Amino acid sequence: MSRWDRAALEALDKADPLAAFREQFQFPDGLIYLDGNSLGALPRRTLARVEQTVTQEWGEGLITSWLGAEWITAPRRLGDKIAEPGELIVADSTSVNLFKAITAALSLRPERSVILSETGNFPTDLYMMQGIAAFSGGRIRAEAVHEDAVLDRLGDDVAVLLLTQVHYKTGAVRDMAEVTRRAHQAGVLVVWDLSHSAGAIPVGLNAADADFAVGCGYKFLNGGPGAPAYLFAARRHQAQAMPVLSGWMGHAAPFAFEDCYRAAEGIERFLCGTPPILGMAALECGVDLLAEADMAAIRAKSLQLGRVFMDLMDEHVADHGFTLVSPREDPRRGSHVSYAHPQGYGIMQALKERGVIGDFRDPDVLRFGLTPLYLRHVDMLDAVLAIRAVCETRAWDDPRWAVRAAVT
Ligand SMILES: *Cc1c(COP(=O)(O)O)cnc(C)c1O
Repeated sequence: MSRWDRAALEALDKADPLAAFREQFQFPDGLIYLDGNSLGALPRRTLARVEQTVTQEWGEGLITSWLGAEWITAPRRLGDKIAEPGELIVADSTSVNLFKAITAALSLRPERSVILSETGNFPTDLYMMQGIAAFSGGRIRAEAVHEDAVLDRLGDDVAVLLLTQVHYKTGAVRDMAEVTRRAHQAGVLVVWDLSHSAGAIPVGLNAADADFAVGCGYKFLNGGPGAPAYLFAARRHQAQAMPVLSGWMGHAAPFAFEDCYRAAEGIERFLCGTPPILGMAALECGVDLLAEADMAAIRAKSLQLGRVFMDLMDEHVADHGFTLVSPREDPRRGSHVSYAHPQGYGIMQALKERGVIGDFRDPDVLRFGLTPLYLRHVDMLDAVLAIRAVCETRAWDDPRWAVRAAVT
């Protein structure tokens, strides 16, 4: 008899301190959604909030809502809910914030010339480094080394180290405090990409002595498709770090309409242009909802969902050719579990048709996001049974999936 039969999993769900949060989200009936690490689900309260923002704040308040509905303070207000007050603002996309954070860090290390990262980092992180290097006219070099070689590469020429805390493909967690300590020893500043960590694992930016960080609003923060992203800059760096995207919203006095740029004193200097208010309203609902949950409980449940999922994969699909890509040990694993399979793309498409949604990352990785706020332990069993059915019936072997879709 399996350790994780349906009765055992239902007992875990009954005892789950986060169980009530599932009701706060809206899903189609019967769907098992294992992609909250890529696009979080819709909180019910977001519907009412966005409607109010559109019909009342925009439709009736019009421009007076910048003050009357506190639109103008949204980037900072949301930031203060995500991190320590005054150290994070919500703005732009993660890609744009990477540009802002990397260039800000470079401005604090003018005598150094290398932006360092690891091969296999999320593409936009590597691409933004490369763009900055290309624009610098040869002064700055972008360099990516194997993940195991990063710490040894830290040297006098490295200005900035850019890493992702939870790897998008493998789900492996970097030790933020230890890596930051090693980087600082070498005089290197670190930009952390928190896209797959914020809302899923305890981050502790100041406990880790972090310099800069960025991340997404639409993943575990449940802010909606294309939600605004965020940028963290440690207080100690704010007055000196140069905001290269020196837009008027980051000016010390935007409504003085001066000809010359003067950066705002604090974190607001990393604002650029007018904030997207509809997206901000939706994101605030996700952030508020998350704040109602205990982060230690989120982490504990996320890890348990991962253990249950991996055990069930071992039990039910052991002879179907899956290779675990994610770390099995709890402290090293984030909130998604990934497997490699030569038929990975077709398997994921067949799963979606059966109402189990995960995603696929080239060349052969299936990702299963385990979001503690809305998943149940029994969902792990139903998902694995669906995976087994797809393998046993060879449902992955379908000419419709011979060509990959634009989004995988
Ligand atoms: C999802 C993700 C991004 C996405 O960046 P966008 O600008 O929102 O497209 C960036 N970095 C990492 C590590 C991600 O996982």
